Amino acid sequence: MAVTSDPNATTNGTTGDGAPITPDLSAFDGIDFADAEMHDVVIIGTGPAGWTAAIYAARADLEPLVYMGPQPGGQLTTTTDVENYPGFPDGILGPEMMERFQEQAERFGTDARYGTVTHVDFSERPFRLLVDEETPVYAQTVIISTGASARYLGLENEQRLIGKGVTACATCDGSFFRGETVAVVGGGDSAMEESTFLTKFAEKVYVLHRRDELRASKIMQERAFENEKIEFVWNTEVVDVLGENQVEGIEVINNETGETRVMDEVTGLFLAIGHTPNTDPFTGWLDTDDNGYIITRPDSTYTNVPGVFASGDAQDHEYRQAVTAAGTGCMAAIDAERWLAENGRVEPESARTASQPATAKP
Ligand code: NAP
Repeated sequence: MAVTSDPNATTNGTTGDGAPITPDLSAFDGIDFADAEMHDVVIIGTGPAGWTAAIYAARADLEPLVYMGPQPGGQLTTTTDVENYPGFPDGILGPEMMERFQEQAERFGTDARYGTVTHVDFSERPFRLLVDEETPVYAQTVIISTGASARYLGLENEQRLIGKGVTACATCDGSFFRGETVAVVGGGDSAMEESTFLTKFAEKVYVLHRRDELRASKIMQERAFENEKIEFVWNTEVVDVLGENQVEGIEVINNETGETRVMDEVTGLFLAIGHTPNTDPFTGWLDTDDNGYIITRPDSTYTNVPGVFASGDAQDHEYRQAVTAAGTGCMAAIDAERWLAENGRVEPESARTASQPATAKP
């Protein structure tokens, strides 16, 4: 990863193959930044990472501005009970937990606003941001916590039954299926891991894979093959999810024979077909891996652009838990606070005169 020590210099981002991408600034054409608000810390996204970053930044008197994004509260707002977040021995509903995070952040002076940061210009500080394609904002530092979105199949009834038997998180929801029969869709490591995990609770776990060969690593495959509760169903795709208020079965098709059938014993459908990090607005500025996850410097939330920090699922495809996201959100706020204290604030270029070059004021 290209890291520069100059606080006002940036490098173009690269993808997994190391090839730099030229950022597209055309969205800024014609946008007048003369009266744009200036903020010390702008936090983009409001899952556990974003709100935790806000709590810490607010308590450091940085008055963070938070843009809540297209799905305020993030992925947890699509789950029911959260039973693995420490401090809630009786569990808590995902949406309620995110409301509490928000209340805590606002209590200390966080300015939380609806809106999505759609474009960024990280070429120099202060950074330029565009909210909902049109509202200009300046930021001295930026914390990215835009999360990732689980991929779904896109079936109408699948979407309707999310949180009612359809889920993309076995760790979160597995224990609700004690003694039941569930199906996991996918053939990668996540599908192997989640199906194996689900056998702790479910009586039977079907793994439905669209091919007859798994993508998962050998060791994960073997673990799943050895598990007597897991049955693989090859060359099979889900075409419908049945049930009014809860999953009461699924309809599948064998894509080799064209034969369809209903599996009415299935009461839980787990999607394990990958996640997509919500990092499109940062393309060309930040180093990412092949899948678009932002690369941060080891043991920190620093990106390749000084003053821009990344936390939560936008940079973590490994753990993806609310508590780990909150942890990196905390790290990002501390990193941003220290970085700003060291490097100071910068005036926009329009406010600088020719005789007054960019200066950092502590
Ligand atoms: P993945 O490796 O991309 O696998 C996704 C699976 O879903 C593939 O088998 C794919 O089928 C299938 N799929 C994709 N779209 C589909 C669709 N529309 N309908 C039906 N099936 C579909 O994703 P992942 O398993 O989440 O893994 C992501 C990364 O995290 C990987 O690098 C993985 O190694 C890592 N990971 C590691 C661990 C671990 O080591 N403990 C655990 C989990 C994940 P095809 O195979 O036909 O493309």
